[in-house]
Amino acid sequence: MHYSNALSRAPRSVVVLTGAGISAESGIRTFRASDGLWEEHRIEDVASPEGFARNPTLVYDFYNQRRRQLQSPAIKPNAAHSALARFEHNFVQAGGEFLLVTQNVDNLHERAGSESLCHMHGELLKSRCLNSGLIFEWREDLGFDSVCRCCQQRGNLRPHIVWFGEMPCHMNVIEAALTRCDLFISIGTSGNVYPAAGFGQLARYAGAHTVEINLEDTRSGFDEVVLGPAATRVPEFFNSLLQNS
Ligand code: NAD
Repeated sequence: MHYSNALSRAPRSVVVLTGAGISAESGIRTFRASDGLWEEHRIEDVASPEGFARNPTLVYDFYNQRRRQLQSPAIKPNAAHSALARFEHNFVQAGGEFLLVTQNVDNLHERAGSESLCHMHGELLKSRCLNSGLIFEWREDLGFDSVCRCCQQRGNLRPHIVWFGEMPCHMNVIEAALTRCDLFISIGTSGNVYPAAGFGQLARYAGAHTVEINLEDTRSGFDEVVLGPAATRVPEFFNSLLQNS
């Protein structure tokens, strides 16, 4: 199957945006924007600074569960994560420019071998000091008793997750890549969370061909829509792109 027939020449600069849908077939549940719940919790309770101020124990526990689940042997990168890593390796070796931007807080892209990667919404396996803003690798549970590695105090650490109303990470790098790319591909994201939901349009205005790969058409104005499960469609799409590059 040949995708991206609309591209008049092989791409030189590719930006990929991923969302919770790419990790669904690895066993991590998506965030269900339609009913506003994430793992049976209201988004505003577990993904906002106000929720954390109101009930920090609930928020610590929520991310502790997600962190433990992510480190269980059952959770592994799937064929979509692997195909992106393989594409990056080959494309960059051939002189192409590549950036993978993920909204996901899991570590499945890096475990699959992706290198040029921005976690715009933070990372489950990191904590952040409320005083200094310094970020630390963090694999165990986090709570009031956790001792901060910079100020050596208890109660100063929060999950390194970008909550609603907070500034996403790496925006300078991401925006620069979006304005340079000639191919933008959005995978497994509902397009409900800004600023990521506007990346396709930004790339399009800058002249890129834009593609969505998703179980459903999110009607976000992409030039090309590839419907189906990520673990099948992503390897097909990127293998075809490599053959035609
Ligand atoms: P979302 O849950 O709003 O949307 C998921 C999208 O993926 C939907 O459009 C759905 O149709 C699609 N999808 C589901 N299964 C798929 C599959 N097998 N193949 C292809 N597409 C599939 O997720 P979002 O747009 O990423 O926004 C959710 C926010 O919640 C993000 O900011 C993210 O930080 C957070 N989140 C992260 C994780 C994770 O790290 N794995 C999981 C849940 C939520």
